Amino acid sequence: MDNNTPRITDAQKEAAGRILGSALGSHAAWERTALWTDTFGPRLSGSDALERAIDWALEALREDGFQNVQGEPVMVPHWVRGEESATLLQPREARLVMLGLGGSVGTPPGGITAPVLVVTSFDELERRAAEAHGKIVLFDVPFETYGKTVRYRAQGPVAAARAGAAACLIRTVGSGSIRSPHTGGLRYDESVTKIPAAALSIEDAMLLHRFSDRGVEVVVHLQMEAEMLPDAPSRNIVADLPGSEHPEEVVVLGGHIDSWDVGQGAMDDAGGFMAAWEAVNVIRRLGLKPRRTLRLVGWTNEENGLRGGLGYRDAHEGELDRHVMAMESDAGFFRPTELSFSGQAESFTVIEQIAELMRPAGPFSVAPGGPGADIGPLMRRGVPTLSLHSDASRYMLYHHSHGDTPDKLDPDDVAHGVAVLALYAYVLGDLDGRLGGNPPQDA
Ligand SMILES: [Zn+2]
Repeated sequence: MDNNTPRITDAQKEAAGRILGSALGSHAAWERTALWTDTFGPRLSGSDALERAIDWALEALREDGFQNVQGEPVMVPHWVRGEESATLLQPREARLVMLGLGGSVGTPPGGITAPVLVVTSFDELERRAAEAHGKIVLFDVPFETYGKTVRYRAQGPVAAARAGAAACLIRTVGSGSIRSPHTGGLRYDESVTKIPAAALSIEDAMLLHRFSDRGVEVVVHLQMEAEMLPDAPSRNIVADLPGSEHPEEVVVLGGHIDSWDVGQGAMDDAGGFMAAWEAVNVIRRLGLKPRRTLRLVGWTNEENGLRGGLGYRDAHEGELDRHVMAMESDAGFFRPTELSFSGQAESFTVIEQIAELMRPAGPFSVAPGGPGADIGPLMRRGVPTLSLHSDASRYMLYHHSHGDTPDKLDPDDVAHGVAVLALYAYVLGDLDGRLGGNPPQDA
């Protein structure tokens, strides 16, 4: 540690102990997550539910004593699902369990009826491209990791369209299923015909695959009303606890407030936003007055556009050099396991020292690593970032599905997340000195 590296003072260590005690003893973040997501339900960009949920949060933040509470305008994509169904016609009639992929075009009004070509990889589709014309291509790809398997959701529809397919189905990108399909965004290519695309439950994808392996012709009728409407107004939530000495310097912490249009978006990502909110409440209730401003941000439109993350960066362009840290949690909200730090290597020692203060709460680690989606635009302008990860074992069971409801989150786990965020926000906001970010990439 060189002489320029900030040091954690004894007073800060003493405050850290009080923060842990207060955060771990309260289920307030889980309670607010449940109240908010039960009341407003899923919050897809462009929906009334999202805007009403934002109105409620802005009012509650003012009541909680936050300052400069704003809904900062952002225009967001407005995709609507409409009615949708997939029906197996041959070799027997059965309703398939499906969810259209976010951003998909709809089918023609009468739907699409076509034989199904089952493939298990992009390579296989390429080899069998001659068979794909006019068919519904099903990618039946077993789940490995989200990072690996999600490319079939994102890029499968374009690959299928290139081969001349009429529509694309994928096996749900999820780690398990009780016939529960998961949605998520796809990526069209403007130079390739846009074809409708949907996820089938794992069971249904495997059923079609077994029929196909037996040499039986599989015919499916797909009906989707999905459409993209003109961009709609939304807002980022911004609320401050002003700093006592350097209010112009800012520690950002938050999560995204939008969700997909299924389930309640509790795990992804109401829990992350509510934990950050409660982290600031804990600090304020203890009467602690960090030197810098702690700024809660609820980003809109993470799921299907990232306009909130980009919009925050643009709206605060002139003060980004005074952003001393940006923290995000958007990885489920189970028991916190790790914070990943992006910034100067010398600054990482401070991140490690703060982790020591978490020790009484149980195992927790820190490691260098890239930022979450919404703080990526800040990281690329040189702001150091911290992203909270939690036990991922059950995340992909519920992610982007009807199963993302508050009962999946454990109130004690959420309280642990509050403790981590509050501890880091407080110490970084009060530190005598700043941590270094990565060199700006796209300034
Ligand atoms: Zn998320």
